[in-house]
Amino acid sequence: MNPGAGVSISVKDVRKVFKKFPALHGVSLEFEAGKMHGIIGPEGSGKTTMLRIVLGLLTPAEGSVAYFDGGRPVPLEAIRPSIAYMPQAQSLYADLSIDEHLEFFRDLYSLPPDVYKKKREELLAITRLAEFVDRPAGKLSGGMYKKLGLMCALLRSPRVLVLDEPTTGVDPISRRELWALLYHMLDQGILILVTTAYMDEAERCSKVHLIEAGKLFIAGEPRVLLEQEGARTFDELFIRRAEALP
Ligand code: ADP
Ligand code: MG
Repeated sequence: MNPGAGVSISVKDVRKVFKKFPALHGVSLEFEAGKMHGIIGPEGSGKTTMLRIVLGLLTPAEGSVAYFDGGRPVPLEAIRPSIAYMPQAQSLYADLSIDEHLEFFRDLYSLPPDVYKKKREELLAITRLAEFVDRPAGKLSGGMYKKLGLMCALLRSPRVLVLDEPTTGVDPISRRELWALLYHMLDQGILILVTTAYMDEAERCSKVHLIEAGKLFIAGEPRVLLEQEGARTFDELFIRRAEALP
């Protein structure tokens, strides 16, 4: 990827309040182009709220989000068609098979037949779901279900991929496969924002943003952060920092 190419996003002093309850307390984040950004924090720390603000689905009480394409500021509308979003509670159609889902999204995105064919084969190969294409979504395991959701999101080659807890409740092997799929996307130069409550997944990201109770408490490259904090793992680092919060 060319330096400066791709989409980047800058979140500045974002505050969000739900019925007087502050969910985000003035959070600033820098999502640099072409990287895998992990937003990591426990249940209720504000991960989904942050993603929904970045996607323009929620309006912050204060603060702003700026979008850039190749380093130039652009309105969200300019990049919205290139954003794929996989929500935390994704609803696929229980009665439709894997192939029927792919065909549904092919039609929704008006993909040309040759593009669809290539993409379908590629996605089925990396997700290793090729032998299950006739199985209804309602009969898939948790990991397979998440992989199907991701395939539907990836069919149209997004430039920005936003995933809310794609690995939650997924078995360890499928978790590894999901991460492999994300690395595959990263190699194509896209911006990835992924949330997780699993601290051990922090090290898989290019840059991590740790949040707790609506506050960002540390951000940076995983290895640099561990070294800087003198911690062996992110579990250790997180518990230590969270305990130090006022
Ligand atoms: P996470 O995704 O990290 O689990 P959320 O962003 O979903 O956290 O939630 C952050 C906080 O905001 C939580 O305390 C949650 O209960 C609260 N919250 C989120 N959405 C709403 C909402 N629509 N109305 C009221 N409170 C909400
Ligand atoms: Mg959430």
